[in-house]
Formats: sequence, C-alpha cells, structure tokens
Amino acid sequence: MLWVHTPKPAQWRSYGGKGISTHEGTSLMELSGAWKRTARGAMLLGADGALKPTIFAEMSALALSTGAINLGQGFPDEDGPAEVLEAARQAISDGMNQYPPGIGFSVLREAISAHQMRFYGLAPDPDREVVVTAGATEALAAAILALIETGDEVVTFEPFYDSYSAMIALSGAVHRTVALRAPHFQPDHDDLRHAVSDRTRIILINNPHNPTGAMLGRETLELIVELAHQHDAIIVTDEVYEHLTFGQTHVPIATLPGAWDRTVTISSGGKTFSTTGWKVGWMTGPSELLQAILAVKQFLTYVNAAPFQPAIAVGLGLPDAFFQGVAGVLQQKRDLLSSGLTQAGFAVSESQASYFIVADARPLGFSDAADLCRRLPELTGVVAVPISAFVTDENKNEYASLVRFAFCKRVDVLERASAQLAGLAR
Ligand code: PMP
Ligand code: GLN
Repeated sequence: MLWVHTPKPAQWRSYGGKGISTHEGTSLMELSGAWKRTARGAMLLGADGALKPTIFAEMSALALSTGAINLGQGFPDEDGPAEVLEAARQAISDGMNQYPPGIGFSVLREAISAHQMRFYGLAPDPDREVVVTAGATEALAAAILALIETGDEVVTFEPFYDSYSAMIALSGAVHRTVALRAPHFQPDHDDLRHAVSDRTRIILINNPHNPTGAMLGRETLELIVELAHQHDAIIVTDEVYEHLTFGQTHVPIATLPGAWDRTVTISSGGKTFSTTGWKVGWMTGPSELLQAILAVKQFLTYVNAAPFQPAIAVGLGLPDAFFQGVAGVLQQKRDLLSSGLTQAGFAVSESQASYFIVADARPLGFSDAADLCRRLPELTGVVAVPISAFVTDENKNEYASLVRFAFCKRVDVLERASAQLAGLAR
C-alpha cells in the first residue's frame, strides 16, 4: 500500500548492464547505486528488497487514509507568528523571487548572527561564519558528505534522527552509536568514551533530542568537547529544537570553552516559527569548516526559499516574549498529552524539550510498539511512531515497546487524542 513503486523498466531499457533492468519485472534490488546503502542505513530496505518510505511518510499516509489524529510526524497544526507569514507575502510582492546568494541573503545571515549573540553570546561573522541551507536536513547532509572520507567513523546517540544514518551510510562512513536509555535518555559517559576514537571524524549530536525530548547535561557537553580535542574530531550539532525547552535553558555546545573552532552548529526556522514547509535552515561555525561544507551544499540545492529567508529574519528578530511564549504554550501541550498518556496506562518519560514525548506501551500489554503503531488508528483513531524506527536493528529489542507521540498540535486535538487513547486500557 505505502511502498514505493518500482519505476517502469521500459525507462531504463536503453542503458543495459550495470544492474540496470532490460526486461519487464526485474526487481528494484537489481538497480545498482548509492541509493541502496542510503536506504539500508536508514533501515528502510528490507532483506526481501522491499523499499519502505520513512516512518514519517508512512505514518502521515496512515493518518490520512484512516482519518486518525496524526501525532506521528512532527509538524504543528497551527500557523506561526503573523508577522513572519506577512513578511513572506511581502517579499513575494517585492519581487524577492530569484536565486539568493549561495550563502543566503545578508538580511537573514545578519539576523542569525544577532540571534546567536542575543541568546548565547556568540558572534559569528554573518559573511564568513553563517550559511543558509534548505532546512537543517540539507545542512546535515552537506556537513556529513563534505567532511567524511570512506571508512571514517561518525558517532551519534541512539535513538537517532533518521536522516543521520541515511547520510552517514551514503557518505561511506561507519556509524557508531551511544545508547540513550529510558526513562531519562542521558548517555553513559563511559559508553561515550568507548565510542569515540582516533577513527572518529564527526561526533554528531542532537540537543535537544528527537525522539526522546532529552536535553544533554553540561557535563556531557564538556565530555564531548574533551573527546573531540583528544581524538581530533569535528562536532556537528543539530539544535533545531533550541527554543522549544520546558524550564531549562538550552546551552549550545559551541559556547563551551574550546568548542567553537571544531563545531558546526545547525538549526532551522521550521520548529521555532511553525513553518516546517519553508525549509529555511542554517549553519554557523568557523569559516574554514563552513567553506568546506559549502563546496558540497552548493551542488545539492545551490540555494532555496528566497522569499522565506527575509521572513525568517523577521522571526529571529521578534522580542524575547515571543520565544518564551512558544515554549510556554508547547509546555502546556506537553503536560496535557503527558497526563492523557499516563491516564491511558502508558509509562511516560518526561520530555524536557522538542515536539515529542516517549511512552512505554508495555504496562498496557503491548511489547511491540511497531505493531501497536500499525494498529493504533483502528484501535484508537490516533497515529504515533515507534521508537524502533530511530534505532539500529541490533538494538531494536531495547526500545521495542516505546512509542513517540508529537504534542505540537491544537489543544482540542490533544484532548480528543487523549480521550481516544484511554480506550486502549479497556
Ligand atoms: N533534525 C531534527 C532533530 C529534526 O527533528 C528535524 C525535523 N524536523 C530536522 C533535523 C530537519 O529539519 P528541517 O525541516 O529544517 O530540515
Ligand atoms: N522531523 C520530523 C519528525 O521528527 C519529520 C520530518 C520528516 O518527515 N522528515 O517528526
């Protein structure tokens, strides 16, 4: 139903050889290319050759086809600040509809730099130490593809966001992971020390963390900087949920002593301004690192989102009250869904940040969250995502009964979802 269809063999016929189909009915698996290791890296290619869509695409399609409430894919169902939306409309009217410069419009680069100063005391040079990207996704892809030589190692936490393992595999790197274990999802420091070695080229962290909602403690951040120095590794840090924190203030790893020179910080306007479809992201860091990454980025998209760039600049310049407001509203939504899930019988982990909360379905008698998530629309009219989608095959057992729910939805939607989920216990 949801699997990707094999393109018509007729389209490939003239090429012949190299695993390209020359007759009807040849399987996709016979088509050679880097797509295979990419899909396998993202755990989307089954042993039987079936190519699955991402968990987000699969679950959003399931929500659409069943009419269930979508607490799977992390996107808000309400618009962000009116000033930001209006600025995009204005930019289109003003004719900002052609290619921006390769590193992004200066108005946005200056706003990113000013934002880093206002919130974190960092002062990246807008002309040399800031690059605008097609969402955080492109920044991540370009950073990994630019900095890896085949056989290098990349260390990430596990569970990990799906694009990490896909890009690590495409780059030809070896993926090493450090477990984040329920219920607090903080890494064991010995595990971290063990995972990072002289083979490590990149330590790729995600803080605040998707899918667990965990925030890394300062001691962990300090250890990561220490290990990066010791083994001459580069830190790539994905901080797209930087403003969506519930009580604790976000500490960018780049602000730690000794970190800036070897750290690429990635963020995006999608979450903070509820504009996930605009795909305006950015990276900040030392100029040499950004130049190397730009050498790849310029051939991925070159540039994107011309009229949305000045609009995100407006967003980044909004008063502090706006940023406190988004986090405050989201915290109330977290509390609402958290208590709904607890009442429904799940064992709920505390989410410190992000759009997401992790709930263990085992107390309800479900040990296989992937199976539960497939049946959840029919059982309760709600869609969610199994944590196993963010975990390597070797470690799936440890996370087998955990489910990720997104709470970046309207209050009435969360109330309805909670009421429907209460039916699971009966
Ligand atoms: N990193 C993480 C941790 C995410 O959750 C997401 C998705 N929302 C992204 C990167 C991708 O961000 P963007 O939509 O800006 O590409
Ligand atoms: N980041 C979103 C999530 O975690 C999904 C984005 C996507 O579909 N790639 O739900």
